[in-house]
Amino acid sequence: MSEEGDEQSACESEGETLVGADSGTGPTSGAGSGTAPGSGTGKPGQRVAARREAIVIGGKSIQPGQRCYVDLPLPPLYTHTSVAMPVHVIHGKQPGPVLFVTAAIHGDEINGIEIIRRLLATKSLSRLAGTLIAVPVVNVYGFVSQSRYLPDRRDLNRSFPGSETGSMAARLANTLMSEIVAKCTHGIDLHTAAEGRANFPQIRVDLDSHPELLPLAEAFAPPILVDSTTRDGTLRGAAGNLPLLLYEAGEALRFDDLAIRAGLKGVLNVMRHLKMLPANKSGERRGKPWLANNSAWMRAPQSGILRSRIRLGGIVEEGGVLGYISDPFGESEQAVISDASGVLIGITKLPLVHEGEALYHVATTESTKSAARAVHDFHLEYEQPVMKRLKY
Ligand SMILES: [Zn+2]
Repeated sequence: MSEEGDEQSACESEGETLVGADSGTGPTSGAGSGTAPGSGTGKPGQRVAARREAIVIGGKSIQPGQRCYVDLPLPPLYTHTSVAMPVHVIHGKQPGPVLFVTAAIHGDEINGIEIIRRLLATKSLSRLAGTLIAVPVVNVYGFVSQSRYLPDRRDLNRSFPGSETGSMAARLANTLMSEIVAKCTHGIDLHTAAEGRANFPQIRVDLDSHPELLPLAEAFAPPILVDSTTRDGTLRGAAGNLPLLLYEAGEALRFDDLAIRAGLKGVLNVMRHLKMLPANKSGERRGKPWLANNSAWMRAPQSGILRSRIRLGGIVEEGGVLGYISDPFGESEQAVISDASGVLIGITKLPLVHEGEALYHVATTESTKSAARAVHDFHLEYEQPVMKRLKY
């Protein structure tokens, strides 16, 4: 489905600077099966360990110990401008899992892009076991137009697994599935709330279908785990039995520092859990996430202007007031009452609401005690070192 296949790649080997060349443009056999003729950079070792095979992404053969950028060609714009999905591959010398980390499947959800930028700058990746495939901008078209959607108004995350001959969204989904997901053993997909809303950091997993995901989700160590079924057409659904975590945090078109830091740490935690990275020497304390089995949206009882009385991560009690809606004169005021107890994991940021609109997303529970502890621990972990982070 590539038009001209003139994609670029640039690689560097461990300990070298960028060399601006790719290693294998010749005919390649199937995914991950390329060998490495003439590129033996390792000294003859005493151990006769089996050498890792190259991984092939976008027709480029990436050798063990190499970091490469690969551009996967996508349908061009009608301006004749070519479009490509940028992919960064780190193929470790040591064997291990093959993990993809994707962001901006919804083109306006940019926190994940910054998480991946910080991830790729992490020094310990030089000791990577396995392979990291980072795709910071999946929906390139939506990213350029600062939109959740594709130019045809389709939602990419309702278009998986896609097909080679389907809609534009289906083709993009198919490229991601065949070039990246099919070659991986694990995945993390980074999202934010849709425009006009914000999410408290959370991992969503479908534990009914995939109970084996619980240790991986706990390793990420978000404050909240939400057990939710997958929707048709999502990457999470199309991934099938591949262990995939969905991270939701922050809002569209905004950087949320807490969401970014928690996301970066979560990805690194998962990589340590999978033994792709060495364990943290400091034995850093990690809070245990609180697992929510259900969630519910509290809706506007009338149209008007909303004043919220609660913040993200706040504890909600059944019958408690979440906010007030009134007309512009402050008359006909009505309280928004929660009909469940739990933690506020999503909130509207636009105070102009119509009757019935979803305002507050509550992860529900009978007893809020353990939820409150998880949120408290999370804030302790992330809010202290604010001044040290200005380097970023
Ligand atoms: Zn999203």
